[in-house]
Amino acid sequence: MLEIKGLKVDLEEEEKSILKGVDLRIEPGTVHAIMGPNGSGKSTLSYVLSGKDGYKVTGGSALLEGADLLEMEPEERAAAGLFLAFQYPVEIPGVGNMTFLRTAVNAQRKARGEDELSAGEFLKVVREKAKALKIDADMLKRPVNVGFSGGEKKRNEILQMAMLEPKMCILDETDSGLDVDAMKLVAEGVNALRSEGRSFLVITHYQRLLDHIQPDVVHIMADGKIIKSGGPDLALEVENNGYGALLAEVA
Ligand code: ADP
Ligand code: MG
Ligand code: MG
Repeated sequence: MLEIKGLKVDLEEEEKSILKGVDLRIEPGTVHAIMGPNGSGKSTLSYVLSGKDGYKVTGGSALLEGADLLEMEPEERAAAGLFLAFQYPVEIPGVGNMTFLRTAVNAQRKARGEDELSAGEFLKVVREKAKALKIDADMLKRPVNVGFSGGEKKRNEILQMAMLEPKMCILDETDSGLDVDAMKLVAEGVNALRSEGRSFLVITHYQRLLDHIQPDVVHIMADGKIIKSGGPDLALEVENNGYGALLAEVA
């Protein structure tokens, strides 16, 4: 699904190397987690994959189902099936959530060469998905994220993900101070959307999130590289011993 090889990334504005050769291979239908100390480059990896400005790729490659992600515009990446959940969801006053979702879904269908959904068709799909995710229909009528609680924003993010039906979902939940309830929401959302053809990359600072998600593979990132990969036990090891022991072991 996603194959990253030797990815090196600098900041565009100043000469600073952030990613120093990241290798990562994610098979279809699997959930991978990346953990790591603050400042190790986890968010940068997700930004670069989604096409955010401000970074310069100086080496390596990133393929989504064999297609060169790094050559695509951000909207092309989305159309190709990449989804990045924002750590800090934007509020859009004056734009109803339903309108926003329908616009996003239809823009993506158009980019994929599919017919747009009519208002009626869209309504049916969004109601079904909202119900499956236990999202109150009321939330669909309100302006996007305006006045939403932390938990509601998380639910909304998961609903966006469900509506766009991505193949490769990247969730960067780092440092955002998710409380336990919000963490559970994210985990339930991910678990509800897990499927054979869909993969997840969950970036987190905390092992707790992984109690609820059960990743197939856990990677530890430090100083711009993945320094160790393993099964779910690796997350527990970090929880028990901290990053220090791992870093020393690798050094
Ligand atoms: P993580 O998500 O693992 O905490 P980040 O990817 O946010 O790490 O950051 C990695 C490093 O890159 C940090 O040292 C951070 O300060 C630096 N960095 C990332 N983006 C910028 C930026 N736009 N300007 C300056 N420094 C940045
Ligand atoms: Mg950070
Ligand atoms: Mg981060």
